[in-house]
Amino acid sequence: MSDCLVLDANWQPKSFCSWQNAVKLIWEGRAQVVKEDEGGRILHSPSFEIGLPRVIVVKNAWVRRKRQSVPFSRRNIAIRDHSECQYCGHVLQTSEYTLDHVVPRSKGGVSSWLNLVLACVRCNKRKNNETLKESGMRLLKVPVEPKPDDPKYNFKLHIKHVRNEWKDYAAYLYWNVELEA
Ligand SMILES: [Zn+2]
Repeated sequence: MSDCLVLDANWQPKSFCSWQNAVKLIWEGRAQVVKEDEGGRILHSPSFEIGLPRVIVVKNAWVRRKRQSVPFSRRNIAIRDHSECQYCGHVLQTSEYTLDHVVPRSKGGVSSWLNLVLACVRCNKRKNNETLKESGMRLLKVPVEPKPDDPKYNFKLHIKHVRNEWKDYAAYLYWNVELEA
């Protein structure tokens, strides 16, 4: 559940948790509220009343849960492709990343680990809406789905969409939004 963004002791986005967990951490004194729900949602109990937490900051390290699969996000695709354009091999800065559908969407290609690769703007433009065959371009390696036991992938920060309350961190979180197939 990603109700609440969790910041580490350095106020960097670290993970997400359910609001129940957030309340528990606050109640135990292990976290502080940074931002409450903008819609004014209030949690009531016999002994206290607080705004639904949307951003909290914790004092301790966060325990990672075992994952079934690597979150399918822009960041993890870039990690898998070693920040290299999969056509020309150029090493890209984050600001230069684009994602290319190997089989274009217009030709029935889906967004998946096997059909999305990191590409530079130039190669992405050159390939346009063509298949590999049509464009005469080659992939440096066949895209694969990463194994969940590979620690280099980002597991903690993955979300379905960026909430309004998290907009201060939006540029960072953009890379962690899970892509829709
Ligand atoms: Zn390229």
